Amino acid sequence: MEKRIYNFSAGPGVLPEEVLLESQKDFYSYKGEGLSVMEMSHRSKTYGNIIADAEKDLRALLNVSDDYAVMFLQGGATLQFSMVPLNIMPPNNKADHINTGAWSKKAIKEAKRVGEVNVAATSEDSNFNYIPKQDALNLTPDASYVHFTSNNTIFGTEFKTEPEVGDVPLVCDASSDILSKPIDVNKYGIIYAGAQKNMGPAGAALVIVKKTLLERSPETLHTYLNYNTHAEKGSMYNTPPTFTIYIMGLVYKWLLNNGGLEAMQKVNETKAKMLYDAIDNSDGYYKGSAAKEDRSLMNVTFNLQTEELEKKFITEAAAKDFSGLKGHRSVGGIRASIYNAFPTKGVEDLVQFMEDFKKNN
Ligand SMILES: *Cc1c(COP(=O)(O)O)cnc(C)c1O
Repeated sequence: MEKRIYNFSAGPGVLPEEVLLESQKDFYSYKGEGLSVMEMSHRSKTYGNIIADAEKDLRALLNVSDDYAVMFLQGGATLQFSMVPLNIMPPNNKADHINTGAWSKKAIKEAKRVGEVNVAATSEDSNFNYIPKQDALNLTPDASYVHFTSNNTIFGTEFKTEPEVGDVPLVCDASSDILSKPIDVNKYGIIYAGAQKNMGPAGAALVIVKKTLLERSPETLHTYLNYNTHAEKGSMYNTPPTFTIYIMGLVYKWLLNNGGLEAMQKVNETKAKMLYDAIDNSDGYYKGSAAKEDRSLMNVTFNLQTEELEKKFITEAAAKDFSGLKGHRSVGGIRASIYNAFPTKGVEDLVQFMEDFKKNN
């Protein structure tokens, strides 16, 4: 078999090898039917089963009840920055947003085009290296919704529990930690996530919407931007990203076969602890950039003493086939993204590399 590198990319991210190999087996001729999933009508019985299975398995993984619609939409998480306010901002036209990073800011920018946005809390004062505490939230009782970003991919911070927002619908951009641990979907009005961090290739967003919120979409809204269109047509109003959804379905099966989200959380906690321990036990040689209590299980961000050392670290790591470790340009430093499919062995090897690098530099 051809070699695989350790892919620490923040997204598109690493996929389970079992999923890649299974899709490779069926790539040329899906289950012997004589054509690839990519070439198949989305209206065919075979594809109908593929997308129905993906939805069923996703519902099983996250325990999603019939009170929620599950959709696979195009436009990534980014289009949801617009679709959320366009659909559920009325009738109040006010929304609360918690600003914990670059993606939160993009969501705020689009919501402002629809109505009034109250930034309920922000951690911008210290370059988003922490998550605002519950008692710092300045919430509007009659807001249409409260929006938060559960995991801040760029800064390496993560909400450990959902913000408490009373009866106001909670909306979550979960692009980079969806399916990394169990969550109680019933606490949410909307959960959305681009596929390409923890669920599959790029090209789709998973959108879970409480059905009662679907009543808010204005009639004047463009057909394609209206959640009801996609909910009523089972994500088949137009041609969906068929291959992406197929791979997402294989990832869901992989998760179910490996013990579901509780098992995944244990693995993720173990992997993240190994890296954070390596940082904390380095006598200050490596410095974690996020507040300890808010550290992400998915994106581990840290610095060395100088930019020069960081450059050297990345170059030497790349020579050892550790790819994608360069931090986002807005924070610099190192970022190791260790999504669900990232192998534990790769984290062990990175920890060893960090020890060796420290000794030699
Ligand atoms: C990557 C990312 C996005 C953007 O996702 P697209 O699917 O590329 O639009 C949004 N939010 C978060 C938290 C992300 O990590």
